[in-house]
Amino acid sequence: MKVANNLFPALPARIIGLGELAENLWWSWHPSARMLFKMLNRRRWKESIHNPDKMLKDMPEDLLVAASLDDEFLAHYDSVLSQFKQYMEDKACSLLRKDCPRESPVIAYFSAEYGLHHSLPFYAGGLGFLAGDYLKECSDLNLPLVAVGFMYPEGYVSQRVGADGWQENVKFTLNREAASIARVLDDHGKPLVVKVPIIEPPIHVAVWKVGVGRVSLYLLDTDIEENDPWNRGISARLYVGDLEQRLRQEIVLGIGGAEMLQVLGIEHAVVHLNEGHAAFSLLERIRDRIVQGLTLEEALEKVRETTVFTTHTPVKAGHDVFPFPMIEKYFSNFWNSLGLDRETFLELGTHPEEPHGFNMTAFALRLSGFKNGVSRKHGEVANLMWQSLWSDKSAAEGPIQAITNGVHVPTWIEPKMELLFNKHLSPGWLDRHDEKKLWKKIDTVPDEELWKTHVWLKIKLFEVIRERARQRWSQDRVNPSMVIAGGAMLDPSVLTLGFARRFATYKRADLIFYDIDRLKKMLKNRWQPLQIIFAGKAHPDDHPGKMILQKIVNIANDPQFAGRIAFVEDYGEQFAQYLVHGVDVWLNNPVPPMEASGTSGMKASLNGVPNLSILDGWWLEGFSGDNGWAFGDDPVIGDRSLADAQAIYQIIEQQIMPLYYDISEDGIPLGWVQVMKNAIKQTGSHFSARRMVKKYAQKFYTKALIGA
Ligand SMILES: *Cc1c(COP(=O)(O)O)cnc(C)c1O
Repeated sequence: MKVANNLFPALPARIIGLGELAENLWWSWHPSARMLFKMLNRRRWKESIHNPDKMLKDMPEDLLVAASLDDEFLAHYDSVLSQFKQYMEDKACSLLRKDCPRESPVIAYFSAEYGLHHSLPFYAGGLGFLAGDYLKECSDLNLPLVAVGFMYPEGYVSQRVGADGWQENVKFTLNREAASIARVLDDHGKPLVVKVPIIEPPIHVAVWKVGVGRVSLYLLDTDIEENDPWNRGISARLYVGDLEQRLRQEIVLGIGGAEMLQVLGIEHAVVHLNEGHAAFSLLERIRDRIVQGLTLEEALEKVRETTVFTTHTPVKAGHDVFPFPMIEKYFSNFWNSLGLDRETFLELGTHPEEPHGFNMTAFALRLSGFKNGVSRKHGEVANLMWQSLWSDKSAAEGPIQAITNGVHVPTWIEPKMELLFNKHLSPGWLDRHDEKKLWKKIDTVPDEELWKTHVWLKIKLFEVIRERARQRWSQDRVNPSMVIAGGAMLDPSVLTLGFARRFATYKRADLIFYDIDRLKKMLKNRWQPLQIIFAGKAHPDDHPGKMILQKIVNIANDPQFAGRIAFVEDYGEQFAQYLVHGVDVWLNNPVPPMEASGTSGMKASLNGVPNLSILDGWWLEGFSGDNGWAFGDDPVIGDRSLADAQAIYQIIEQQIMPLYYDISEDGIPLGWVQVMKNAIKQTGSHFSARRMVKKYAQKFYTKALIGA
């Protein structure tokens, strides 16, 4: 198996390694590598929207030749390239095995989405970023893992908001030839095409590879000539609304993904399902074992012993249920090949409390020996939610364990903060970031330096927002009130709350508008004003979610709010970086216990942006009393939103505002900076993807390997 090469024919031999660098996302979490592309040509780096593959392909040969003769550039090139080569060749033993060097992957990780970088639009939200951060950390820890997902050319939703505040989707198609992905070729050098077993008429998939450091991610793409239009559309977008097409997506991801690994000759002993979308892959695992001569019972047992399943949400809509006739249409051949009858097969995916269809989560839970929720609280909630699958057990003795999510620190630490920590924690802190004692030294960072860094990041965020508003004004000729709604009047000296997430209704993006007059007083406070930046997308079929979004945009448009509410369009990875680094407080107020974990708050906290959050998900573990603010732990009788909104107002008025605006003679809010330090200290080690991946290895992978 090979991937297409010679993608950058114009590159001079002296800097040929730039091509290799551009094709591996390692560059995305190493600032020195990003700096190299920036040095190559600052304007073009910006124009490519930080996409080295596109940048190199668009660059005229004479500029590349000039770079290959520039001593300063070459010195940095040599240093970055040797760092990259060393990383890729490092044979450090993994957490799982003592026998170095590493052989073929041991774990196959399946996920319907991956949030790796904004140039690869294969994500909708938190689930995707969790998966993306997971792969990066597995690479850093040298864990032998291979990943499977989809190449969605149209991504999730490309968001535009009209003057009436309504979310519109603009057509967007990824240029596959100008992204850090490479086509996988067959033995004859032609694009590899894999046929998805069992489905008639057949579906074919092409395969792309993404290098995530030392981890390979393979992406399935149905948009090829061999398929009819309906089949071609299977991988067009994430989470298509049409139920049958959604089922076909999951068949392709699970069964097609398993087949693809087989065709590529990638052996794996353990499967890890990131959410239930790929659970059909387990059917292929069972079938393989039956073909090898095991009985059905033995095959099921073997699969259970070697399968890990992570459930990610208590929200009902997050669990796909397919009507039985639809399952029958696609699987009637399959259950015969397993020696199963219809009833037994369908029972594997039936939730006893709602026996109306085939539930992918119930199916995955039954067939996985290792299962977990994504925070302590979510573990408890999931055991309650699925208790009827284990009628012999109480919820307290349920088999779903808890491993709290974490974020990939090298990806989410802002480079200026990284430098500051280099100076005061230790120069090698990033390599040892899950050591708790390292973070104690945050207290030695001079207040002024931390505050100045924060202010610099805040100004940078406001510049980005203003530039976007300017473009909407000058290029798209939107009306002036939309320019204001886009954030043109935001003021960097004002206390700034950030709220960005998917506009699912349970996240209650509009909660802070519950008592409009009380909020207005805060926004328009002459001496201690408040402003709020919103961003996020609603699922295209989520009408109520779009209504909430519209309400907020209309408020942002309204002169009564004095330009202090902003809505920034088309939230994605790039803007998320600016936002979690640059606001003063990160706001989160979903209906508990719906937030299984939440990760954006961890990204903010790591960079010294404290959370104002409801006690749900990770914050139940993260809140220590002095590293942010919490509310909503009391049981509420009556109107939950009223109680939560009042709690938010009270905290802002009585705690946040006075602390933020209590500024020393040198212009530094000393009390505030202490909260920032506490936030950093308590997030850095514990809510890292490193701690998380180590836990998966220790609790699940090592044990599953015994069963393999
Ligand atoms: C981290 C991240 C998320 C996840 O946010 P939560 O709502 O906290 O789970 C979603 N979108 C983007 C762009 C992110 O970076």
